[in-house]
Amino acid sequence: VDRPRPLVAGNWKMNGLKSSAQVLAEIQAGYTPGLKAKVELAICPPATLVSVLAYASVGSRVAIGGQDCHAKESGAFTGDLSAEMLADAGATYVIVGHSERRQYHKEKDADVCAKAVAAHRAGLTAIVCVGETREERESGKTLAVVRKQLRGSIPVDSNSVNLVVAYEPVWAIGTGLTPTAADVAEVHALIRDELRRLVGKAEAPKVRILYGGSVKPSNAAELMAVDNVNGALVGGASLVAADFLGIAGAY
Ligand code: PEP
Repeated sequence: VDRPRPLVAGNWKMNGLKSSAQVLAEIQAGYTPGLKAKVELAICPPATLVSVLAYASVGSRVAIGGQDCHAKESGAFTGDLSAEMLADAGATYVIVGHSERRQYHKEKDADVCAKAVAAHRAGLTAIVCVGETREERESGKTLAVVRKQLRGSIPVDSNSVNLVVAYEPVWAIGTGLTPTAADVAEVHALIRDELRRLVGKAEAPKVRILYGGSVKPSNAAELMAVDNVNGALVGGASLVAADFLGIAGAY
């Protein structure tokens, strides 16, 4: 089976000012032709910086993404942003269903699915996030939880171009804790299996499945070598160019 081209995506969360364009410039400087041949890079800054960074990344092929979008194209939704607006600002990706959105904004699988549909409508690739809490892992529910999230969050029109799945155990995000390689392999195998049902046998092997949660240069090589891991979603370490490049360099 052809392995999909890996994607290393940075999630800046609610961090970054105009001056953070410097971080992107450093990433671009380190994104050598050799690295480019091996791995695709994306940065998902706060929405205020999407057009700034998209403009600055023209030519470097570091993709830019949003961190969330509304399901509707436009309308009376004060404070929200549509997928079309992100695309218009220069984004090509959008993260949907990040655990912080699920937790702090009470997003359910159906909401996440509607946002992914919106992303596809706007021509964006949706990075759909799933993952279990510590309690769910400790009570042996990980696979059931992830399966349910996948079935509820991935739209039927998904394919290997417009969908990326990110497995992010909630207890590993921003904690410095990571699952064992065997645990990552188990969940990623389940995701691949579910993808066969959800997007079909032809597309499923080509969908990128990212691992996210405390990825650092020091653990990237081990995590990225796991079967069915096709890249990383990186939070904290994506704010420092050298760290982000160190992770990308694990390929
Ligand atoms: C994330 O929030 O997507 C994430 C993986 O965060 P961190 O790398 O900081 O754990």
